[in-house]
Amino acid sequence: MNYTPLGNTNLRPSTLGFGASPLGNEFGTTDAATGVKAVHHAIEHGINYFDVAPYYGTGLAEERLGNALKGYRDRVILATKVGRYGKNNFDFSAKRIRQSLELSLKRLHTDHIDLLQVHDIEFGDAEQIIHETLPEMLAFKQEGLINFVGITGYPLHILKRVAQAVPDIDVVLSYCRYNLLDTSMNDVLLPLIKAHNYGLINASPLHMRMLSNEGAPDWHPAPAKVNEVTQKAAAYCREQGASLSKLAVQFALQHPNVATTLVGMSSPELVDLNLQALNDPIDTDLLKAVQTILAPVKNTVWISGQPENNDPGAVVGNA
Ligand code: NAD
Repeated sequence: MNYTPLGNTNLRPSTLGFGASPLGNEFGTTDAATGVKAVHHAIEHGINYFDVAPYYGTGLAEERLGNALKGYRDRVILATKVGRYGKNNFDFSAKRIRQSLELSLKRLHTDHIDLLQVHDIEFGDAEQIIHETLPEMLAFKQEGLINFVGITGYPLHILKRVAQAVPDIDVVLSYCRYNLLDTSMNDVLLPLIKAHNYGLINASPLHMRMLSNEGAPDWHPAPAKVNEVTQKAAAYCREQGASLSKLAVQFALQHPNVATTLVGMSSPELVDLNLQALNDPIDTDLLKAVQTILAPVKNTVWISGQPENNDPGAVVGNA
């Protein structure tokens, strides 16, 4: 396992990061004991970065992760979020995010969070996030409640705008914008990340499970055409005796500027699958063939958040 500095912070996350949203039963039920085993298995195999949020299972993922981390807290980098509390439940006010942080600290059985992020900024008013939410989070930092401040979201231009407006933030988390189906993170966000040396985190290398062998879940926000083409790529991989999900994780893990890539893992078996993806060499011929199959739908962007925060060209999907 490699450990890379996260921008200007003193954190060095593992290349493969543990996404804890499945611990909140977000996409199917996770057995609590198996979830705890997954966390311990990940730590034993060198994963030191854990991403969670109050939104995941409305507190359940934090509770379960907090229980699993008893006795391990000082060995890990713990990242959680504020501002999103349900599918359509957002509150980015200073008052609410302070309450949210207090609850997260209790659920996670800790006295500090290593990285606190504004969750899905595109659903908020950018002016509020710039002038109220982030200044309050920078105050949390002064108070010693958190070590670093970040923002997360899907549309890239709003991440860029907010990161430019508040240069005191430390980290940007982008999801579904750097994987086999979309690489636009590199064009829109990366130049700013490099210029400021912000820490960069990439989530959803499986494009929210679309790049898994099972295909996209019903709720997936991408247009149906994207899934149709992706399933052709999955079938091609199967014909070659290979796995599209493994290739997808390997592709994302190769990004030279991403400090950690977050994959949702709810069992020791999934941890092993992703460790294997990390350690095995990527099949470059298979990668080329899959990229050719996916080319017609590459960089298809869906609508997410307030209309003014959507990326140019975003289309209505299924959700
Ligand atoms: P996810 O956590 O939503 O779910 C990934 C699913 O893929 C899991 O349920 C698991 O069953 C399956 N899986 C994992 N590894 C696999 C493999 N190698 N092959 C096949 N299937 C596999 O996943 P995600 O969308 O990849 O997101 C990862 C993590 O990133 C989340 O858990 C969350 O912590 C974080 N995230 C954050 C944001 C945000 O802050 N806005 C957005 C998306 C994701």
